[in-house]
Parts: sequence; C-alpha cells; structure tokens
Amino acid sequence: MDDPEARDQIVRYGRKLFESGLTRGTGGNLSCRTEGGLVAISPSGMAYERITTDDVVILSQAGEILWGRKKPSSEVPLHLELYRHMPETGAVVHTHSLYISVLACLGWEIPPFHYLMASFGGRIPVAPYASFGSKELALSAVQSIGNGKAVILANHGLVAVGKDLCDAFYAAETAEFLAEIYYKAKCAGEPRCLDASEMKELMRLFRDYGQCEEENQ
Ligand SMILES: [Zn+2]
Repeated sequence: MDDPEARDQIVRYGRKLFESGLTRGTGGNLSCRTEGGLVAISPSGMAYERITTDDVVILSQAGEILWGRKKPSSEVPLHLELYRHMPETGAVVHTHSLYISVLACLGWEIPPFHYLMASFGGRIPVAPYASFGSKELALSAVQSIGNGKAVILANHGLVAVGKDLCDAFYAAETAEFLAEIYYKAKCAGEPRCLDASEMKELMRLFRDYGQCEEENQ
C-alpha cells in the first residue's frame, strides 16, 4: 500500500515547484500514481519547504486515505478525476504561476502561436470557472483538457498532466513560459499563429524529441 519512492518524489517536486516560482506559499499541489495503482498526493496547506515524506498522503482511486496522518490537498477531486479520465497519466501538477494566472483571469486560452505549443497539442484551453476543491472544478478541467497536457482553470491557475512527475512538472514550467510570451506579445500586437499543417509537422518532430531525466532538469 505504501510507496516510499512516490512519497519522496512528491516532496522533491513540491520543492521544485516552489523554488522555480511556479507556485507561492502553500498554493498549488501535486500527485503521482504509486506502484500499486494508488495516488500519492501533497498534504493540504503546508509550505513546500516544510513537507517531508511523512506528510505525503496515499489515497485509493476513490479518495479514501490509505496511508498518512495529514489531510490531503483540497484539490483531491481534481487529481482523481484526471486519473480516471486519462488512464495513461502518471502525475498531475497544479500551479498558480504568474502569467498563467493572468491569462486565467482574462479567460484567454493559449493558441498555437509558438512552436513549443506543439508539445501541448497546439493549444492550452481554459476550463470554465468553478470553486476550488469542488467536483464541478474537476469535471470542468476534465471536459476542457480533452487529450491535452494542460488546461488553464479560469480565474485560478493551471493543471498539467504527464507520464510521471518530471513530465508533468516540465509541462507546467513550459506552460508558464509560453503564457508569459503570449501575454507580452499580445501587449505589443497580434501574435501570428502557426497553421494546422505547421503544427502537425511540429507534433511529429516533438514525438521523438526530449528526455525526462532528473539530471537534465
Ligand atoms: Zn489552486
């Protein structure tokens, strides 16, 4: 039932989220699937630099606490609904990064304006607003993300998914980078979007590109 490696990963990537500025204070949360098909998730309301492996909570797919003494993240429904919807997903990262939050408040999706958008399938959509921690927010995110890697939560932040925490963290970091460029480009003019054939070619190139190993981060 327990998975010390998964708990360790939650602690390490939680610190990375904080150190990289992708989230602030106790905002945001992260989870990954365990070896046994359960979900390891960050605790609720704790500063990332204080979280230890003992604070991580392990849940069943139904949300029952199977390991840990702390209260799990308030966004449990969001994480569990994404795993249910995307069986191939191994990790979920939720952030409140700055430029993503700006776009979230404007209700702007990110269109295929930059070659890196190919790693998100061409666009990062916006999920309609619902209260944090609610089942409605979880369903809104799932309906909007489709088969993509990330979705902006209106008036809130971002959720990114990946095959593991390295992959999901990289998606959240790249989404913030693209949100900053997009917002600044919009301040200066109207960014030119890549057309469908250009995006298709980029998606082909991206399929064979990159590696997700910790030492390369
Ligand atoms: Zn949040």
